[in-house]
Amino acid sequence: MAKILVVEDEPAIALGLKNDLKLEGYSVEVAGDGETALRRAGREAFDLILLDLMLPRKDGLAVCRELRHAGVRTPIIMLTAKAQEAEKVLGLELGADDYVTKPFSPLELRARVKAILRRASGEAPEVYRFGDIEVDFTRAEVRRAGMAMDMTPLEFKLLSTFIRRRGRLLTRERLLDEVWRPDSSPTDRVIDNHIMNLRRKIEPAPNESRYIVSVRGLGYRFDG
Ligand code: CA
Repeated sequence: MAKILVVEDEPAIALGLKNDLKLEGYSVEVAGDGETALRRAGREAFDLILLDLMLPRKDGLAVCRELRHAGVRTPIIMLTAKAQEAEKVLGLELGADDYVTKPFSPLELRARVKAILRRASGEAPEVYRFGDIEVDFTRAEVRRAGMAMDMTPLEFKLLSTFIRRRGRLLTRERLLDEVWRPDSSPTDRVIDNHIMNLRRKIEPAPNESRYIVSVRGLGYRFDG
């Protein structure tokens, strides 16, 4: 069952969307403002986000930008008003996948949701395996020899970024860009510490860096 986050501040529209999507068999959560949406989408694994543009506390475009910046790849459908042409374009540039113009018919929305979910499921693998580790992107879970491991959201994001860019050099600046929130500025040492913790969890033995390889003076490379 696909899990959808509806980000909409008008209660009547939010409720309508929720009921309609639930009838289609989706699991639906609602966030009423941008900050809440960011927090939830960064922490839980949703299959799709329906994102209104005009929101209290943080608008939809900022939410979209920050999610993508943080490496969250969940498909996003923007809910826009007819007059918001410029915002539509900007939203797509910022990483949204599609938009639906308000007022929309339930039929149209359902069709878009279905299309995006179908497209998304064909793209990234749901489970990535290396060694005895399984990274389950749909559940945001990492398993070693079949047992779920304790991972912080940041470690999971870090590992996802490594997997997505496997075989390539990742500088600390690049990791900072893809993994950390735009308003945080961890030092190199903080980044290295998180990588050390991740290594401790996924490497076959302590002091052995088979998967997350240090590239001296430059950064890291994932060879899993
Ligand atoms: Ca609104």
